[in-house]
Amino acid sequence: MVKIGIECHLQLNTRSKIFCGCSTKQVDDPNSNVCEVCCGFPGSKPVLNKEAFEKALKIATALNCKINKKTFFSRKSYFYPDLPKNFQITQYDFPIGINGSFSGVKIKRIHLEEDPGALIHKTSYCLVDYNRSGIPLVEIVTEPDFKDPKEVREFLKKLITDLSYLDVYDKKSEFALKADLNVSTTGAKVEIKNVTGLKDIEDALSYEIERQQKDAPKSNETRGWNSDKGITFLQRVKESEDDYGYITETDLPVIEISDNLVNKIKKDVPELSEEKTSRFTLQYQLRESDAKVLSSNKKLAHLFEEVAKKVDPDIAAKWIIRDLSNQLNYHKKTLDEANVKPGDMIDLLKLFEDKKITDNTAKEVMIKIITEKNFSPLKYIETNNLIMKSDTSQIEEWCKKAIEESSDAVESYKNGNEKSLNFLVGKIMELSNKTANPDVARKILVKFIKK
Ligand SMILES: [Zn+2]
Repeated sequence: MVKIGIECHLQLNTRSKIFCGCSTKQVDDPNSNVCEVCCGFPGSKPVLNKEAFEKALKIATALNCKINKKTFFSRKSYFYPDLPKNFQITQYDFPIGINGSFSGVKIKRIHLEEDPGALIHKTSYCLVDYNRSGIPLVEIVTEPDFKDPKEVREFLKKLITDLSYLDVYDKKSEFALKADLNVSTTGAKVEIKNVTGLKDIEDALSYEIERQQKDAPKSNETRGWNSDKGITFLQRVKESEDDYGYITETDLPVIEISDNLVNKIKKDVPELSEEKTSRFTLQYQLRESDAKVLSSNKKLAHLFEEVAKKVDPDIAAKWIIRDLSNQLNYHKKTLDEANVKPGDMIDLLKLFEDKKITDNTAKEVMIKIITEKNFSPLKYIETNNLIMKSDTSQIEEWCKKAIEESSDAVESYKNGNEKSLNFLVGKIMELSNKTANPDVARKILVKFIKK
């Protein structure tokens, strides 16, 4: 039976590092965001970043953990060039949160720790950059509740979404999500270390399960993941946690968490994606699949709710999920980069809802909202005379012209090919600069051709 548990490390979005005032900003210049604390100089003393601690507490609360009222930090000792102190400050005995649950998966523990530096391997030497040293990480450890890699991916996707709702997580960083994966198919525990990103996590798990089913491991081992080759490889026979020789970090105080703080944090936890999905289906009568898509992105959900205040929610959902998202993908932009304002979407979709512009015009304007700066949909529609035309005599003119110019399509329609009528309507759209009322055009075409 396949059993998978994960330990994921997520970078908190604080401005400064966890134990010093250095910036967490990613910069190109190596070893520029460093000081004596994050480089572990003798005599330097760590000071805990309150924001990092409260954000970890917020995650533990949102993931339904029991909060340890007393918590402290420990030194996890190991020797490695990315760790200048020769120990990592982490939490061991009393992590911030224990025994939680999220999306049907049991959470064993949640704790706070510092990231080590980054090693940059060259052909004959190795460089080390301590800019990452001391970046605040939250480690979320699950019980081995997953049965297949897809479940893990879905879980992490949802977790990331909800952490963005909590405003604790920085999606942009390339180091934002890293996981150690525990896979057991026969009893022996195999851990795959440091897999980054959702796709690699799923791929590494699939590979490892298949490997173990062909050749069952006899003892516990630690493996690495080579994403270029798509394989895991043996690193070492697994050490137990005892080998790290944890000792209490006496440079940091024991932290007592008051009930007041716990209650304050509880109040700060906003509506998360699952709740939002069910509210959207109830309040706006959306299909569950649509509600899920909208809830899976904080900014998309916000945009939808703003637009749905003024526009039929069904139209708002359809246009935001279908056209806006597709065009954003096509133009390789995020909602933020495109700077899509709810007011512009309301102006546009209101005209569409009131049947004042055609579907084609709405699509054209939507692209401009995404791609042009300081764009006003109303002004554009007015200046370019794009209000839908339903005037019969004018549309008759366009129909005549379309029929004249497309004798093949007319013949084909007469021979029973209904699709040819769509071609003719498209032709009328072209002639009318997308403004002819397509329903009226269709009726007139049918009348004309049958004559
Ligand atoms: Zn520092």
